[in-house]
Amino acid sequence: MRQETKCIEGGYTPKNGEPRLIPIIQSTTFKYDTSEDMGKLFDLEASGYFYTRLQNPTNDLVAAKIAELEGGTAAMLTSSGQAASFFSVFNLAGCGDHVVVSSSIYGGTFNLFNVTMRKMGIEFTFVDPECSDEELEAAFKDNTKCVFGETIANPALIVLDIERFAKAAHAHGVPLIVDNTFATPINCRPFEWGADIVIHSTTKYMDGHDASVGGVIVDSGKFDWMAHKDKFPGLCTPDDSYHGITYAEKFGNAGAYITKATAQLMRDLGSIQAPMNAYLLNLGLESLAVRVQRHCENAANVAKFLSENPKVEYVTYPGLEGDKYYERAKKYLPNGTCGVISFGIKGGRKAAEEFMKHLKLAIIATHVADAHTCVLHPASSTHRQLTDEELMAGGVRPDMVRLSVGIENADDIIEDLKQALESC
Ligand SMILES: *Cc1c(COP(=O)(O)O)cnc(C)c1O
Repeated sequence: MRQETKCIEGGYTPKNGEPRLIPIIQSTTFKYDTSEDMGKLFDLEASGYFYTRLQNPTNDLVAAKIAELEGGTAAMLTSSGQAASFFSVFNLAGCGDHVVVSSSIYGGTFNLFNVTMRKMGIEFTFVDPECSDEELEAAFKDNTKCVFGETIANPALIVLDIERFAKAAHAHGVPLIVDNTFATPINCRPFEWGADIVIHSTTKYMDGHDASVGGVIVDSGKFDWMAHKDKFPGLCTPDDSYHGITYAEKFGNAGAYITKATAQLMRDLGSIQAPMNAYLLNLGLESLAVRVQRHCENAANVAKFLSENPKVEYVTYPGLEGDKYYERAKKYLPNGTCGVISFGIKGGRKAAEEFMKHLKLAIIATHVADAHTCVLHPASSTHRQLTDEELMAGGVRPDMVRLSVGIENADDIIEDLKQALESC
């Protein structure tokens, strides 16, 4: 099946008389005839459901659809994108371990790694995604367990050279984890470029309608854990909490990583996605291909309009000819990039604030990547505690407006931007 078809048909094929749409199984518990039957589930000797904190049938069907879209072998839904980022790394790295991370990532992920996970004893080295091969090489240590980056960074809109980062990770015997939220599997499938694990905030384009917070982790099934046994004892040596099962032996490369994340992390930390949210996510996935195409078409038109407007100082959009990442986007994202654009208005911070006051269609919201066009002025909202000098040092210009182009009619979006630019 092609991507558009997988969006509709992937993950679930109803049998005779079964529901057409992935149904909501809201039940927390599941019934068994004998204790023996249930015991087998607890020992991971049989597959099945016993308690929704670990696994739920609705979630698994939706996760299977996303696994197909990404070309992976196994996937799990999480309660949020943050939970997906956390689990994806914590499933491999613990106290005393080290992780290499692209410095151009979502602010929430940066804080998760740099503050919260550091408190757990995990060390992170942040590297500029455009650093030299020597600098990238120097970031690795003997205790490095994985590399993490974003296909299209939120909000910097930098396109990651996935092949280069995958090569560096593999040379050190560790997997590359890619946050593919902005690109979605419609525009980029990081596994085809060497990534081993993909995560998403499904809250963004996958849900696409401001309807539910969620996340997903997908495994490519390609990383050979046993070949790097000494680095990954959690996958390659017996787990005493499951009668001595060795995940990489029992479930192979295709299933070990997600089974361990389910059996240990979901069991102990419980960040499961509510089945109701998984149901809503599936509705979003059914239209993902058409929506992403429309987002990209609209954003390309809006970026072109902005780049030609004399009041606009600069436009950052990897799908716009002349953008620093245009050529790389053509390689990794030939069908389109995303719907998010950032730009600056002549007159700096004041002009940006004034401009946003005059918008009528585009709403001001701390959100991106859904059907409604929305804007954010980071300098006066998410980053308002920083001075202009601090903002510049962090790569956020005081005049920068982040615009998430929705799927309304592009002419209406452009007319709104035009009248607001004229008023400021
Ligand atoms: C929003 C976002 C996250 C965090 O996801 P939540 O669902 O809000 O927890 C992670 N990565 C990227 C790229 C994001 O845009």
